[in-house]
Order: sequence, then structure tokens, then C-alpha cells
Amino acid sequence: MNPKIKKSNGEWRRILTSEEFHVLREKGTERPFTGKYVNCKKEGTYVCAGCGNELFSSDTKFDSGTGWPSFWAPISNDSVKMEPDNSLGILRTEVLCSRCGGHLGHVFDDGPKPTGRRFCINSAALHFKKKESA
Ligand code: FE
Repeated sequence: MNPKIKKSNGEWRRILTSEEFHVLREKGTERPFTGKYVNCKKEGTYVCAGCGNELFSSDTKFDSGTGWPSFWAPISNDSVKMEPDNSLGILRTEVLCSRCGGHLGHVFDDGPKPTGRRFCINSAALHFKKKESA
């Protein structure tokens, strides 16, 4: 992919925590049930921890029991990019931020209705913006 925001690893290291850097820039995975948004049920928007791009709405978050924040859809079709990932010798579909190319997680076909998809996303790739009350 050709991200709109490009930074060197040195620049990313200055603005991200070491855990955020590991997930977003090194395609790392946080240990299950350790991320800060696994059990978050607040209303709002999850944005990219790297660039602030809006990624997921709390309206599509569900409890998958996997230990990672799970969503059945992105906030819009162009907010994320999907790419085949054959690491670990298993064919999976990687989910990336469409703006900065940061690794977010993977998407699987065992999610709930209406899409049947499960976006399995690292908390460390996300920042949460609480919905402002009207
Ligand atoms: Fe991003």
C-alpha cells in the first residue's frame, strides 16, 4: 500500500509508546486480555494511535471472547486497508490503517451479523475518543 502519512522509524519512535510502535510499525500483537480496550463499552470512536484516522465505532464493537477488541465493521470502507498475510504459515488477512499504513490486526470470517466479519484489533493500535454528549 501507499500510505498518505510516511515517517521514518525514528520519527515514529518519538511519537509512539514502545508498545504502540511494536504493534503499528513492527506488526506485533499484544498478549490477549492485556489491552486497555478489550472490555471497553463506552460510546465513541476508535482512532489510529499513530495518525488519528477514524477506524472503528463503538456501535460495531462486540465481545468476541478472544481477548482483543473486536468489531464487525470498520467505520468506513476507506478507513482501513486489507492485505494478505502469510506469516506463521497461515493465510490470514491483515488490517492496516489506510492513512499511515500502521498494522492494526487481522480480519476473520467468523464474526456476528450483519457482516459476519470479525476485525480482531490490538488495543495498542487504537486511541479512544469518547462521544461528546449533545
Ligand atoms: Fe494511522
